[in-house]
Amino acid sequence: MGSIACVGDRGEHGPDYRTGVITTSGNDNTLGVDGDIVAVVGAHYNCSKHGNETIVSTPVVKTRLNGKLIVTAGAVASCGAVILPTGRTVSVE
Ligand SMILES: [Zn+2]
Repeated sequence: MGSIACVGDRGEHGPDYRTGVITTSGNDNTLGVDGDIVAVVGAHYNCSKHGNETIVSTPVVKTRLNGKLIVTAGAVASCGAVILPTGRTVSVE
C-alpha cells in the first residue's frame, strides 16, 4: 500500500541522484489522479544516474490497471532507483 505515482513524479537513486522522473505511464493513459496519469509496472523512469529505465516492482499487491500493478511510493526501477511521489494522498493496496 502506498501513495499512487503518476507520470512526472520523482524518484531517487541514492542521496546524490534525487532528480529522476517517471516519463511514461506504461498503460493507455486513461486513468488519472490529481490531474496526472497513473503509472503501472512497465512504465519508464529516467534516472539521473542511469538514464532510461523501467519500473519493475511496486509495493502494491492487488490494484491493477489493464492487468498491471499500479506504481506507488516505494516502487523500484530496473537500476534500483526508488519512486517517491510527494504530496499525493490517494493510495492503493
Ligand atoms: Zn539509477
